[in-house]
Amino acid sequence: MGIASVNPATGEILKTFTPLTSEELAAKLALAEATFQQYRRTAISERGQWLRQAADILERDQVALAKTMTLEMGKPIKSAIAEVLKCALVCRFYADNAAGYLEDVLIATDASRSFVRYQPLGVILAVMPWNFPLWQVFRFAAPALMAGNVGLLKHASNVPQSALAVERILLEAGFPEGAFQTLLIGADRVSDLINDERVKAATLTGSEPAGMSLAAAAGKQIKKVVLELGGSDPFIVLDTADIEAAAATAVTARLLNNGQTCIAAKRFIVMETVADQFEQLLVAKFQALRVGDPLDETVDIGPLATVSIVSEIAHQVEKTVAMGGKVLVGGQRLEGKGNFYLPTILTDIPVGSPGEKEEFFGPVALLFRVKNIDEAIALANDSPFGLGSSAWTNNPAEIERLITEIEAGCVFINGMVKSDPRLPFGGIKRSGFGRELSVEGIREFVNVKTVWIK
Ligand code: NAP
Repeated sequence: MGIASVNPATGEILKTFTPLTSEELAAKLALAEATFQQYRRTAISERGQWLRQAADILERDQVALAKTMTLEMGKPIKSAIAEVLKCALVCRFYADNAAGYLEDVLIATDASRSFVRYQPLGVILAVMPWNFPLWQVFRFAAPALMAGNVGLLKHASNVPQSALAVERILLEAGFPEGAFQTLLIGADRVSDLINDERVKAATLTGSEPAGMSLAAAAGKQIKKVVLELGGSDPFIVLDTADIEAAAATAVTARLLNNGQTCIAAKRFIVMETVADQFEQLLVAKFQALRVGDPLDETVDIGPLATVSIVSEIAHQVEKTVAMGGKVLVGGQRLEGKGNFYLPTILTDIPVGSPGEKEEFFGPVALLFRVKNIDEAIALANDSPFGLGSSAWTNNPAEIERLITEIEAGCVFINGMVKSDPRLPFGGIKRSGFGRELSVEGIREFVNVKTVWIK
């Protein structure tokens, strides 16, 4: 359905948009390039003031912005508000820290003075997904703008109103026209942008096929890319863990954002001796959840974002069950209007079934039993992905092994994986490469210039 807002709770088409014509797109590119030549010379303190202003606007408009997201992609309104506030946080974080992260770094050599200077690259293209319509964009935009780059956003086609809201907020905050522009275009026009010599680098958060396509186009042009792709994060529970705490956190870790989070815990790998207890607790908690209208503040689980996502998750569950998997709770769509899928737990996951290796992008937990920590680590690593991981134990030696041996971009011990502006975020293996957030994030899209003076 082109570029449109469709309410996933009802199927109602809220608004449709005409994609940019070639001429309109060309004008936006020209504006981005022209703006960069001026913008790169603005003082970092001034950029910081604009970003702080953006944080104020986000806080001021939190309810309206949250509602826009909920209506476009179905996240429960409480989490939508939390997302808007987290965007304000990342703006303030980079306003406060960017100057320090980008200061010249003196290095003693045979020169009378040598140092590293960080300089902006130019126009950066961001291709973003719908699951966190504002957060995904702000976590790119805040560091990129502070570094002196300008941004072009190609957002997912189902969240155009959120996409336009970001441009509006940054303009109102004081950033010059052209410093950050939203492009209403389909995915088929991304490679043309990559081929344009004014676009210097790109970042994509989304699926593997999209990442491969963008990286291939960028490879041909020898342009830098950052890829934040899928994940099938393990959530390991060993026998010394606080099982009650692990089960309580497991619910949020799996079901936040209706289960559509890249860093959601997707594979629960539990030691046999505590597996019955963990399973019973998790089933009871899943059964108690309220599924329904995401604008209702008491609802825990809203609809999945699109018809194709709910069909895909239903297909993955059916196939896993047909091959011998067992449904402990849920396992089906909710009758009636909207893209609702019941919170589901599957166990006895057969080898070769979708549950074994695929990413489940919806409210479905996959439960595995293992004999010991060796089996737990082996199973955790037996995945094409390597984004996040969470492990629960109170044994210091086990903690050290898990930190060292799990193949993932992060390990959270006795807590759920979450993004935090202060910590780098990103994956390995087929989850992508490069990092967002923290000092690493702001240094992805800069020229690390070596300076040597005799
Ligand atoms: P998707 O289809 O890949 O869409 C993401 C973005 O890429 C959209 O803007 C989409 O545009 C665009 N796109 C799609 N195909 C493309 C192509 N061939 N070339 C260039 N751009 C293309 O992703 P999704 O399935 O909606 O999102 C879910 C996936 O994102 C999951 O795998 C999830 O794990 C991952 N994700 C990862 C992170 C992370 O930080 N690692 C965060 C969130 C989500 P259109 O909408 O116009 O198709």
